Formats: sequence, structure tokens, C-alpha cells
Amino acid sequence: MLKRLEVKTAARIQLVDITSTVKAFLKSEGVTSGVLIVYVPHTTCGITINENADPAVKEDIIATLERLVPAAGGYRHLEGNSDAHIKASIMGSSVTILVESGALVLGTWQGLYLAEFDGPRMRSVLLKILPDPAS
Ligand code: ZN
Repeated sequence: MLKRLEVKTAARIQLVDITSTVKAFLKSEGVTSGVLIVYVPHTTCGITINENADPAVKEDIIATLERLVPAAGGYRHLEGNSDAHIKASIMGSSVTILVESGALVLGTWQGLYLAEFDGPRMRSVLLKILPDPAS
């Protein structure tokens, strides 16, 4: 089963916490054990797992990506958003999360984030659960 979430981002660069939405999807599917793939079909946003406790971590990630890949960097891409493409590739377009006892196997401080680099806009997040085969 494939689920498409629509996520509205609010800034050009933003980490949007989608952990609770993904948890709600998992609960609705009733799968107790397996693997969840979270994927974004976009070239200027990504998906990442990182700290959900101290919001300064999100700010540090964004500030560091801005320093490494500035918006104005003498890029060749005519659309003018090369920095967003590069940041998206650094983040990656999918994550895989284990599912056990009906829950995402995330560490205490881990959250799941859509990493927007060319917003604000609507984004799709695709979710696919691969349940363990019945034993
Ligand atoms: Zn582009």
C-alpha cells in the first residue's frame, strides 16, 4: 500500500517535523512488524532523521547547509535554485525505518523531517510499508 502525504512548507528553507503524521499513518495501517520507506519525489527537498528535542539542532543544520552551499554560488543551472538541488542531494530523498510492535523504531531523540530547500510550496511525501511475511 502506498500513501501520499501532502505537506505545506512555510519558508524557502525549513525542516518540517512529520513524525506524528507518519506515526498516525502507521497506526492506521495496523502493521505490527516490517519496514517503512519514506520517500520524497522532488529534486529540491529531502528527508532526514535527526534530533527532535533541542530546536537549535534544526537551526544549526540549516545554517551549516547555507554556509556549505550558499544560495548565490555561481551555479550554471538556469532556474536559479541550484543550491536547493545540491542541499536536497546532501540530505537524500528517502529514509528507511524499522517497524516493531506496531511502532516506528526511533531513538528517544529522533524525529523525521521533510527538509525543504526551495519553498514555500506543497510537497508530497510517499510512504510504503513492507510488512514482514506471515510466519
Ligand atoms: Zn532547478
